Amino acid sequence: KLHNEVQELKGNIRVYCRIRPFLPGQMGKESTIEHIGENGELNVLNSSKQGKDGHQLFKFNKVYGPDTTQAEVYSDIQPLIRSVLDGYNACIFAYGQTGSGKTYTMTGPDGASEEEWGVNYRALNDLFHISQTRRKIFAYEIELQMVEIYNEQVRDLLSSDAVPDASLHPVKSTSDVVDLIELGLRNRAMAATALNERSSRSHSVVTIHVHGIDMKTSTSLRGSLHLVDLAGSERVDRSEVTGDRLKEAQHINKSLAALGDVIFALSQKSPHIPYRNSKLTQVLQNSLGGHAKTLMFVQLNPDLHSYAETTSTLKFAERVS
Ligand code: ADP
Ligand code: MG
Repeated sequence: KLHNEVQELKGNIRVYCRIRPFLPGQMGKESTIEHIGENGELNVLNSSKQGKDGHQLFKFNKVYGPDTTQAEVYSDIQPLIRSVLDGYNACIFAYGQTGSGKTYTMTGPDGASEEEWGVNYRALNDLFHISQTRRKIFAYEIELQMVEIYNEQVRDLLSSDAVPDASLHPVKSTSDVVDLIELGLRNRAMAATALNERSSRSHSVVTIHVHGIDMKTSTSLRGSLHLVDLAGSERVDRSEVTGDRLKEAQHINKSLAALGDVIFALSQKSPHIPYRNSKLTQVLQNSLGGHAKTLMFVQLNPDLHSYAETTSTLKFAERVS
């Protein structure tokens, strides 16, 4: 069964939309979400100012409504994650404005219980579990890296040594992973206080490298999984920011646009894929395209006040799906 699912995913780019719930204290707010269909359809409010027919229809591979649990989301992406143990490369992104649930989906809320764990922890947990069940056939080694990309510069979140490549950390259990990711998040947050909430303006990339050795034949395979919590996609009003903030905003725009261009070129099976246009796409080059599988979570904040950002997020998604 796994094999078939992997075949089906091969070469595919999938786009899943996830709508976060209204948060406590936001009750009674108006929503932009009109209807969620059974097959990935999403109807959102249309701006009445434009006098159109009241709603707009978008189509995704899947749409998750506000009541969807972390476990439900994970069960849909499990085949893709497990394919890494068969030597595939995969990349999972969370895209959306700040506050739309990107970190919730990828990592979970602050101090998450196991039930609230996001994709990062569940993926590693699952990879350890499956590698155990295969241990008579394959000897697997799993290593973790975590970097942040800020203003087109890559920073290792798990080591302060200045080496050109990000440090690789062997992991043997989910608790090793929890410790490392928490360290990475603390390092990210540290820079954040200095530079005022930088975490929403940098991309964070957790990379899992898998090396498996077939014990009978001694042949080896390598797979990798990139889990990317992107910088907030909100547009910054150029008339209101200057200096460092303007520079940050320009770097974010540039790298998200470059990512959109790469995924679009891949979806069109274009012979030229423009990887070189940003640090983000350079870092991810080996796991975008070729036999690698790409999945994008498009995150939405349902609040009517986010209408403009929701529309721009959906436009980005429409282009890459
Ligand atoms: P982002 O990373 O896009 O800025 P967060 O993941 O930090 O957004 O989410 C913003 C807030 O909404 C957080 O308090 C988070 O816990 C909450 N949240 C996001 N998605 C969900 C969800 N699916 N269910 C419950 N709470 C959520
Ligand atoms: Mg976040």
